[in-house]
Amino acid sequence: MSLGEFELIGRYFVREPNSCGDQSQVRLGIGDDGALLRLPPGERLVVTTDTLVAGRHFPLDAAAADIGWKALAVNLSDLAAMAAAPLALTLNLTLPIADEHWLAEFARGFWRLADIANVPLIGGDTTRGPLSVTITAMGCVEESVALKRSGAQAGDLICVTGSLGDAGAGLALAISSAEWPHISDDDRAYLLERLHRPTPRLLEGASMRGIASAGLDISDGLLQDLGHLLKASNVGAELAVEQLPLSEPLQAYAAKSIATRQQALRWALSAGDDYELLFTLAPERAHLLPTMRYTVIGKITPAAGLHLTLHGKPWEHDGHAGYQHF
Ligand code: ADP
Ligand code: MG
Repeated sequence: MSLGEFELIGRYFVREPNSCGDQSQVRLGIGDDGALLRLPPGERLVVTTDTLVAGRHFPLDAAAADIGWKALAVNLSDLAAMAAAPLALTLNLTLPIADEHWLAEFARGFWRLADIANVPLIGGDTTRGPLSVTITAMGCVEESVALKRSGAQAGDLICVTGSLGDAGAGLALAISSAEWPHISDDDRAYLLERLHRPTPRLLEGASMRGIASAGLDISDGLLQDLGHLLKASNVGAELAVEQLPLSEPLQAYAAKSIATRQQALRWALSAGDDYELLFTLAPERAHLLPTMRYTVIGKITPAAGLHLTLHGKPWEHDGHAGYQHF
């Protein structure tokens, strides 16, 4: 017996209010024609949405739990990039069939991250068709401290959380691990985890409120996303390639040959899918972010244009800037 639409929603996506995230702003959740939300006094609603399409954002045979996690992670990452606190989610699922095993796994990955972020699911839509997942994340932040792409000033430091290039390496591993020079099981697991289960940097985003001058998350590749920030802020940048933060597994790969070193840098600069936060910071405010782990990778310049250097010498990037759908 296949599962009916309402049975499906009830089984996998409706939870008791006391086990479904922070309900403090939810006046009415799943079950009505719309949900009712409150906002903390003085704060603005931040809304963001992202779609993952089977065969485009993930392979058709991708693990359902990873899809559930990642569909949510990319949305929470957008909230983090705005320095917002998550408030509530909606989930639009288009499924070819109501496969209970797939749904149970999808829901497991989705709820795992929703529970970590303590954010409630307040509605959605369930339809039949080619597999795709759209999540809308709502958050809140005071307008004066929301992190925008505009706002970077000449002289600001360019900073990034975490490490870059891991998801690009993970994708290459997932597609053809045969071409890899020797890699340990731990390193392989780490890189694949970074691809399939990115960590939205919510705490880091929140701790930048009122301190960073501009910011965004790196979803399509550092060069492309930095380009968006530079354009919005009407400034340029110098980027020191040797300062890009590479994880230990990616450093181990990069150390194997000149070719692997170049490949690692290419992933760090343009592969995308890392969901780290890129932000700018006036040097005199840097001491306000002492507990947060981040790396300074460059500097904002008054003149437009993005210049890469390697140990102070001009450096040509030989890859594309980042991912684009069209
Ligand atoms: P309507 O016909 O009024 O659009 P639906 O029948 O589509 O309502 O959905 C019934 C209720 O279930 C609504 O509150 C809707 O928000 C919720 N819902 C539907 N699909 C999902 C889903 N995938 N996840 C969470 N809630 C859902
Ligand atoms: Mg509906």
